[in-house]
Amino acid sequence: MHDDRSLLDERLTRTVRQRIRPEVYGAAVPLTLEVWHAPGEPVPVAEALAASYEPAKVGDAWGAPWATSWFRMSGAVPAEWAGRHVEAVVDLGFTHPGPGFQCEGLAYTPEGKPIKGLAPRSTHLPVGRSVAGGEDVLFYVEAAANPVILDIVPFQPTELGLKETAGADPVYHVVKAELAVFHRDVWDLLLDIEVLNSLKNELDEREPRRWDIQRSLDRALDRLDFQDVPGTAALARAELVDVLSKPANASAHRITAAGHAHIDSAWLWPLRETVRKCARTFSNVTALMEDYPEFVFACSQAQQYAWMKEHHPDVWQRVKDKVAGGQFVPVGGMWVESDTNMPGGEAMARQFIHGKRFFLDEFGIETEEVWLPDSFGYSAAMPQLVKLSGSRWFLTQKLSWNQINRFPHHSFYWEGIDGSQVFTHFPPVDTYNSDLLGADLARASRQYSEHGKATRSLVPFGYGDGGGGPTREMLETARRSADLEGSPRVTIEAPSKFFATAEAEYADAPVWSGELYLEKHRATYTTQARTKQGNRRSEHLLREAELWATAALLKGFDYPYEQLDRLWKTVLLHQFHDILPGSSIAWVHREAEARYAEVAAELESIISSALSVLAGEGSETVVFNAAPHSRSGVPGLGAGAVDSGSAQPVSVDGLVLDNGLLRVALDSRGLITSIRDLVADREVLAPGTVGNLLQLHVDVPNQWDAWDVDPFYRNNVRDLVEAEEVVAVDEGKDVGAIRVRRAFGESTLTQVLRLRAGERRLDVSTEVDWQETEKFLKVAFPVDVHADRSTSEIQFGHLHRPTHVNTSWDAAKFEICAHRWVHVAEPGYGVAVVNDSTYGHDITRKARPEGGTTTTVRLSLLRAPRFPDPLTDQGFHQLNYSFVPGAAIGDAVREGYRINLPERRVPGAGPVAPVFTVDNPAVVVEAVKAADDRSGDIVVRLYESLGGRAKTVVSPSFAATSVRETDLLERTLADRCLADNGVEIELRPFQVLTLRFSR
Ligand SMILES: [Zn+2]
Repeated sequence: MHDDRSLLDERLTRTVRQRIRPEVYGAAVPLTLEVWHAPGEPVPVAEALAASYEPAKVGDAWGAPWATSWFRMSGAVPAEWAGRHVEAVVDLGFTHPGPGFQCEGLAYTPEGKPIKGLAPRSTHLPVGRSVAGGEDVLFYVEAAANPVILDIVPFQPTELGLKETAGADPVYHVVKAELAVFHRDVWDLLLDIEVLNSLKNELDEREPRRWDIQRSLDRALDRLDFQDVPGTAALARAELVDVLSKPANASAHRITAAGHAHIDSAWLWPLRETVRKCARTFSNVTALMEDYPEFVFACSQAQQYAWMKEHHPDVWQRVKDKVAGGQFVPVGGMWVESDTNMPGGEAMARQFIHGKRFFLDEFGIETEEVWLPDSFGYSAAMPQLVKLSGSRWFLTQKLSWNQINRFPHHSFYWEGIDGSQVFTHFPPVDTYNSDLLGADLARASRQYSEHGKATRSLVPFGYGDGGGGPTREMLETARRSADLEGSPRVTIEAPSKFFATAEAEYADAPVWSGELYLEKHRATYTTQARTKQGNRRSEHLLREAELWATAALLKGFDYPYEQLDRLWKTVLLHQFHDILPGSSIAWVHREAEARYAEVAAELESIISSALSVLAGEGSETVVFNAAPHSRSGVPGLGAGAVDSGSAQPVSVDGLVLDNGLLRVALDSRGLITSIRDLVADREVLAPGTVGNLLQLHVDVPNQWDAWDVDPFYRNNVRDLVEAEEVVAVDEGKDVGAIRVRRAFGESTLTQVLRLRAGERRLDVSTEVDWQETEKFLKVAFPVDVHADRSTSEIQFGHLHRPTHVNTSWDAAKFEICAHRWVHVAEPGYGVAVVNDSTYGHDITRKARPEGGTTTTVRLSLLRAPRFPDPLTDQGFHQLNYSFVPGAAIGDAVREGYRINLPERRVPGAGPVAPVFTVDNPAVVVEAVKAADDRSGDIVVRLYESLGGRAKTVVSPSFAATSVRETDLLERTLADRCLADNGVEIELRPFQVLTLRFSR
């Protein structure tokens, strides 16, 4: 037999494109168009229905970027179409090839009820399966002119990301608005061909099955009358019945297909547009469920449901009905699909608390699978938090984006820093937007690394981000692939069903211990510094507000339950995986900065009300310490007078600061030439180096500018050694201070370095007017410490990472995320660097020719990428960090809290006892709050912070009647024994414990 494959493939391609696809719709009549261009921001549907419309037509321009136009579309079904299947087809100007990321629409009935969304690959609206003929058709389309930000040539700087700079000219044209006869047979033929052809393309050319399909497709085309495709489609389909009915191989890979739409809560559009994206997609999928009873749609992010409840009650009702029917399936159990590198411990816990509680309250559903397909790496604190929230499983696929190393497993147990394990699945299909065609299904099977041990993987299908979710074509594809020779078996089912079966069949699944580091998007620890700082400030203000409001509650203060709930949800929303990481358009980040300022103002007001209740009437200076550790005689979580003790004053001799604990010398360039630890009697800086060295790198990644820093950024660095001013500043005898001013490029930077009496720590406060483009600003402390590994704070504990680059896995971690501190040490001596705003770090080491090792700790302060926000990080920034010589891990923990929780001084009567005292410094109180059920119970969450075992007594300052250990949602796990002095506890390394006290 001659090899005629390419000839046959070319025939199929042309026939499908030019003969079959154009015949899905037959006769058509235009709809009459009218338009109302809404001024300003989106309006409720009632307001739009009442607006005055003007005539419009196909071809008209509409939609300045971010504007909304409402179209009224009317017509009548021609009488001669009686008995036919008729649909409206609307193309708002879907010119970009992507399934979303451009204009979108939501169709409404004249009564204002949503019908379904309109997206590039879902352009139809139902009229009738078998029309009478002559009926009138009328609907409204809310058309959103979301501009294309990520274009065919990607990552170009654009002004479109901010309404003020996006321009006022329309960017779309109406392409089509008509009623048309839907040829179901042609559509079915098209789907038969696509399923078979895409399967065939994945099969080996020597396989009989491939040729079976090839010849059948060819025969099907032979049966088509090209002058009457609708009339002969059924004949063509008959030729395919046999190949479509051959069952899957006995050993075929099993796929759980879960309908999904990954809707980023903000990204290349503002938050308000996500509300509408959800309304469109949820309208689509609930409508589709009517036609496909087997269709299951997995939907994460409680926030998106809450938006429907608040803004789109009709959509919300449809969602509720379909949740009750088991087709619309809440997953994830988090408030949003957050970043997991940067949220603090308590905030990470609240993501689960608020997410899971929403699903429990609204639907009575306990979600058990954590769903984070797209976040940028996963903290090793998560397994414990997942378990403590009452969940069991974890899903992501993002590590398939690794630049260097291929992750070895697809189903495995993920073990966190405390030893907790959760069964985890990485869909080997490597996408969360599958179309379920042969290429995706075959890839899932081909890449699955567990063959022979396990049999199944999960494929999320559906277009996200405005693409409308799963389409009816995908559901037809799933039906055809359910049991098809050569294909994996495809079953549509809920993710929880997949997880239960997958875990049960794979009891000896491999274990991955530690973080799931994403070898990409490493600059997301730094980009959009003000957003990150807003998160850090908000987290600590929330801690303070809850702590002091709880203490005041015991004195009759009205605990602001509603307000704290709302403020937490605002902060949790902004931890979404394109907001906190800094990868959204300018609009999102400007708005985030404004929200954080409002959050701070409200929290400051709660704090000051609570403090005045606590301090009482009086003229003493009462110092409040919200940190878990005592400070200058003021107990942690309490208030009192500062005991300044008898610390030696700080001497300033030229550019040398000395407090008897440290002697810090600067040169005339404002660089630190020596940090002498007088307690340990050693020089801390490495020989021949300078400390607090600011370094400016050229930073132009190959792609994903806001997200990525590529390793070659290190090749081009400028040390900022020139100073405009280096001068000692008089701040009193308890502080020695030197101010350094520098100018570089278009930017200026002022730092004040301070040594304080009695403190073995150098504080550096920085103000910078940042006007650079595509630069990366770091500050370096090269220390004379031989460290194989660095230690970074994460949620409820810390993590070690190598300082060397032995393996490709080590080398790939050239930029790392840490919370309030990093630490490097050799036996007997360590150094910590703590911060109040920074997450990105890099820690490297170098052997010196004369012997010894220089370990260089660098903080990543600012970047200046140009996509998607062309003015990323431009302007003023203020941030603090401190250098702590002679620090053990416990010192790093304490100093990390300290720099983020400055004490507060208010006039009052006298000391305030801590709500709780804990007598072991290894045990750290992370949160003190009133119970969420408003029973008046008091909740404390604490953890073992050093990675060891710790015993302690937790003593409440109030009369408690009982104490229980609870999960994160404050549900009882066990009763605990309450003695006179409190409750005795023993914690495992990094164990998180929540105790609930009744009064
Ligand atoms: Zn995403």
